[in-house]
Amino acid sequence: MTSPAFAQGATARRAPLAFDPGLIRKYDQSGPRYTSYPTADRFHEAFGPADYVNALLERRENRPRDPLSLYVHVPFCNTLCFYCACNKVITKDHGRSAKYIRYVAREVDIVASILEPDARERAPVAQVHLGGGTPTFLARDEMSALMGHLRRAFPFAPDAEVSIEVDPRKVDADTIAFLGSTGFNRISVGVQDFDPAVQKAVNRIQSEEETRTVVEAARANGFVSVNTDLIYGLPRQTVAGFGATLERVIALSPDRIALYSYAHVPHLFKPQRRIAPEDMPPPADKLAILALAIEKLGVAGYVYIGMDHFARPGDELARAQAERKLHRNFQGYSTKPDCDLLAFGISAIGKVGRTYVQNVRTLDEYYDRLDARALPAFRGDQLTDDDLVRRDAIQKLMCDFELDIAAFESRHGVVFPRAFAAEILALKPLADDGLVEVDAARIRVTDRGRMLVRTVAMLFDRHLRETRAAARYSKVI
Ligand code: SF4
Repeated sequence: MTSPAFAQGATARRAPLAFDPGLIRKYDQSGPRYTSYPTADRFHEAFGPADYVNALLERRENRPRDPLSLYVHVPFCNTLCFYCACNKVITKDHGRSAKYIRYVAREVDIVASILEPDARERAPVAQVHLGGGTPTFLARDEMSALMGHLRRAFPFAPDAEVSIEVDPRKVDADTIAFLGSTGFNRISVGVQDFDPAVQKAVNRIQSEEETRTVVEAARANGFVSVNTDLIYGLPRQTVAGFGATLERVIALSPDRIALYSYAHVPHLFKPQRRIAPEDMPPPADKLAILALAIEKLGVAGYVYIGMDHFARPGDELARAQAERKLHRNFQGYSTKPDCDLLAFGISAIGKVGRTYVQNVRTLDEYYDRLDARALPAFRGDQLTDDDLVRRDAIQKLMCDFELDIAAFESRHGVVFPRAFAAEILALKPLADDGLVEVDAARIRVTDRGRMLVRTVAMLFDRHLRETRAAARYSKVI
């Protein structure tokens, strides 16, 4: 069965996305989403606060006025969703977030003063994102304090993208208006599935009405873009039930829809142990749900951006894709060029120059470090020249579905067929199956291959290849 339907918008250039269950069965495998390369599992604790300070000083020396991106991780949630794989703190005690915000402010001050002691000379901020956890766990005065502190530390550009993840269960229209007045202009709303049986199985009871209130309030308050998150493959999910959810979500007309695949790995994520294994949909149903989702989103006019993301043709993500101006970062796809990212709060991951850096994961460690006036970075990675070249190749494939070999060679001073001889060889079976086309001028991910772009990208991941080779080697002996 090959579903033909995935309409593209007027501004997009590509032919319809082909959904081929046979190819998906053959090639879909667990693997990185490449929001970074190298991926976070490569970060190591030999990289610590001193290395992060060096990266900040290098930026101060060489790129002091380049725009910045900011991320703040707000870890608190009221209740536990059983599918959750995020770093969060479940609590009903709202007093805990006030303390947390004070410590985030300390971390912001330390980083900002290393970058540039004079606040008036600091680089403009192009992008801000609050994620979690549940950022809307914060009380209004806490949110005002946090955003005020960020703005005092770093000047926001007039056209800055300021986005927030919202849990509609705890937010009313007034709160959305408040968020708009605080400067947020993009919003991401968790939905997952409206089917009551699924909601019960994952412990996330959320009405359509609550969701509609948030989406409509975002529109009424001038938010530029509204995203909704859906998850397929959840317990008790059925094709018919998810079809009804899709219709209800499409009726809300969000600008973007993220459709994530649920990975049930209870040995890695403790909350998932609360999900009954017998409630999990069989693989064939999961694939049928995905096929249905693609068909319905296509008929509704959504453009496939890549990986799990869909957007209306007029949305800035779809326009950026059509103009080949898409980028990939920790939030997924982005329209902003590759900014340095300063990340604050527990477990937050930042990127400065050729380094990635991640903060400690627990509140106690975070508070202890900041009490000692130390940066809470606990691991990271210093990218090699090879990492930078491969990161660019992976970005081009993930964002443009195409890698122009001459342009790539001139950017990096490499002879592509020589530098990537092994990768070109490894692409051959994928080319034989029609996922990619490879010639002397370019590597192009075909319409059949676009849903499997990460399989193509994985071939360029040297670390993954080495890890797999090591695993095979240890099995042999
Ligand atoms: S899925 Fe989101 S809201 Fe639910 S527990 Fe995890 S972080 Fe909190």
